Amino acid sequence: MKYPQVRNWFDGRFVDGAGAHLEVFNPGDGSVISRVPLSSTEEVDAAVRSAARALPAWRAMPIKERAQVFYRYRTLLETHIDELTALVTEENGKIASEARAEVLKAIEVTEFACSLPQLAAGEILEVSRGVECRIDRHPVGVVACITPFNFPCMVPHWTIPNALMLGNTMVLKPSELVPLNAGRIAELLAEAGLPDGVFNVVHGGQEAVEALCDHPEVAAVTFVGSTRVAQVVYRRATGNLKRCLALGGAKNHLIVLPDADVEMTSSNVVASMSGCAGQRCMAASVMVAVSASDPVIARMVEHARKLVPGETLGPVISKEARARIVGFIDEAEAAGAEVLVDGRDVSVDGREDGYYLGPTILDHVTADMRIAREEVFGPVLAIVRADSVDEALRVENASPYGNACSVFTESGGMAHYVAERASAGMIGVNVGVPVPREPFSFGGWNDSKFGPGDITGRGSIEFWTQSKKTTTKWNREAGVNWMS
Ligand code: NAD
Repeated sequence: MKYPQVRNWFDGRFVDGAGAHLEVFNPGDGSVISRVPLSSTEEVDAAVRSAARALPAWRAMPIKERAQVFYRYRTLLETHIDELTALVTEENGKIASEARAEVLKAIEVTEFACSLPQLAAGEILEVSRGVECRIDRHPVGVVACITPFNFPCMVPHWTIPNALMLGNTMVLKPSELVPLNAGRIAELLAEAGLPDGVFNVVHGGQEAVEALCDHPEVAAVTFVGSTRVAQVVYRRATGNLKRCLALGGAKNHLIVLPDADVEMTSSNVVASMSGCAGQRCMAASVMVAVSASDPVIARMVEHARKLVPGETLGPVISKEARARIVGFIDEAEAAGAEVLVDGRDVSVDGREDGYYLGPTILDHVTADMRIAREEVFGPVLAIVRADSVDEALRVENASPYGNACSVFTESGGMAHYVAERASAGMIGVNVGVPVPREPFSFGGWNDSKFGPGDITGRGSIEFWTQSKKTTTKWNREAGVNWMS
């Protein structure tokens, strides 16, 4: 194996997993690169106790002192960007430029966290003569964060810097498919001066997640992953009276109007559906082509055919994922969809065991086909034809998901019309992947997010803190007695 066996991280040091282990694969060549422990309820308890022990001192530290750790950590991320990039490619498969972009985003959210001393300041007001009300923010306590396979570095950073900066301590449960980044993140946080126990990593699957949702000392849970598991985690954590924010899957619609700029639209749509092999919760999945969109579609086909699996397009995460995605394409073709670009028979020389799929574009998909309704999570785009913008919006609105929706048009009025009516939390106008940059928060609607607030940016401050309201009377002579 290329990497030593993955270990948990409690109390500022690595600890061997005590039970069963799973193999970790490199999706680019199918080789086994490591093994990851499937931690038990007892191991989760050890992680939570480590975080609980570290909590009193960490929460008592002034936020400006906590920020010093994250200034140093940000520099360490930059120093180690090549190493982290390579690790992302190794365990997730995405190509180097995409892996680097993911680490850069981790740096950006860390920079945002460094601004929290300014943003999370409290409020104070003299509400009556001699009576003062003050609100300040306190951490919620030990928090648990459960993350998916598709961004092994970035998604853990959606929560790590903000939650810790705001005084919480954490147990991270990374995806068992991509467990390597978490260990390096833990080491770099320690190198930056984070006290032992403030950040912990417990590896595993369902048992570990359930134990985190059930543990009495865990105050809040965040989850990022599929809608099916998001619902399970949200119900279980809130059933145990914890705060929970659970981000789920997606089915993002790009609505292309007849006046859209052909070059910009075609290149943006193809980049959105194929970037990170379509394994982004913000990826284009359905393009709703309104009326005369054939020039855009013809140019999209040219762009897609230029993608080279293994060079400009990475593999999907597993053999099973590949088979599932091919199943979606086969079924749509059998139901009458026209395959304009077919990625099913792709193979990369020298990496025949990698999980590659070429970009695939299907035209004349109907809104009732499974490929138009369910999340595919691969480099596949379904084109649904519509006669009007209202028909396109009906297709978008019918989706149970609600992460992103983009409109491509040269008309400001039409862009506004679609943005107003789309049932999604993140809207793009001539943008294929409308991820808000910091300080704007990330978060969808409907079945793409359960729970209040957002996971990043300003919207996360409320989630990671509880407010304390203090009313103080200093001035007896003022004669204020209605609040005795
Ligand atoms: P997943 O739901 O399979 O796994 C996510 C996490 O849940 C992992 O840590 C996994 O170990 C754990 N898990 C899996 N099954 C479980 C179960 N039965 N009980 C408890 N825990 C369980 O998701 P994935 O395949 O790793 O990631 C891809 C999904 O994540 C896609 O649906 C994608 O859209 C979604 N995603 C959403 C966002 C967002 O912001 N909304 C961001 C990234 C990924």
